[in-house]
Amino acid sequence: MKQTALITGARRGIGRAIAAQLAKDGFNIVINAASPAGNDAFEDIKQNGADFLYIQGDVSKSADREKIVKLTIEKFKSIDVLVNNAGIAPKVRADLLDMSEESFDYVLSVNTKGNMFLTQIAAKQMIKQEIVNKRRGIIINISSASSAVSSTNRGEYCISKAAVSMLTTLYADRLSRESIFVYEIRPGVIKTDMTSVVSEKYNQLIKDGVFPIARWGTPQDIADAVSAFAGGKFLYTTGNFIDVDGGFHIRRL
Ligand code: NAP
Repeated sequence: MKQTALITGARRGIGRAIAAQLAKDGFNIVINAASPAGNDAFEDIKQNGADFLYIQGDVSKSADREKIVKLTIEKFKSIDVLVNNAGIAPKVRADLLDMSEESFDYVLSVNTKGNMFLTQIAAKQMIKQEIVNKRRGIIINISSASSAVSSTNRGEYCISKAAVSMLTTLYADRLSRESIFVYEIRPGVIKTDMTSVVSEKYNQLIKDGVFPIARWGTPQDIADAVSAFAGGKFLYTTGNFIDVDGGFHIRRL
């Protein structure tokens, strides 16, 4: 029987590439995003016999998180893989000393609270599921290089992603006894709508040799890493993260 993968924030960008890759890998796919699906035909998802469901819902809202899990279970009966990918940048890049509480709350409500509490509901669902191939489920959090790298003009984003790293650790610890595995992927600079507003800055950083692998990352680079974790190749591993950042994490002298 096909397994089911739920990917948040998957109408476009990194999440969309993850959804297409997991469809290729043989999962049924649930795509969540903040907006309606519109007239997208989702041809990239409807491959390899993947059945799929689109759920509009805001992961920062409790009722929407409940709805996302409920509709997934109604259609597919299980959540075998959850990818917490939905994320936002601050609307304004403001210096740390000028950051507003409103922006802090806004960014953390999606990036941190959404991830924390959707995982809570999904994990409770996974716990009810049978163990198949040594696991009840796999959870993959898309954090960021910003979990560990300071950007003082978007501190709320860094804080929100550092918190995702800790919630990965916490859930990995708690869920290990339930045969549920939890991983984190830290993307570097990936070409999507999110980075389009700062593409000149990143083009220059790439030219300046800041990233050992001197190119933009692609959504597919992240999807490939998700595919490896979701495929159950790391079952004596939980709570780990991988940098998919062109080697940006390497400290140089
Ligand atoms: P993106 O192109 O801006 O796409 C974001 C997706 O998330 C969209 O589908 C959006 O829905 C959805 N979304 C936003 N808020 C949501 C909410 N409250 N509830 C549900 N869905 C929501 O972003 P991306 O670059 O693909 O980023 C994906 C993830 O990777 C984010 O967590 C981001 O922080 C992380 N990341 C990105 C980069 C990068 O360089 N791009 C680097 C490090 C980490 P709609 O389409 O309906 O608007």
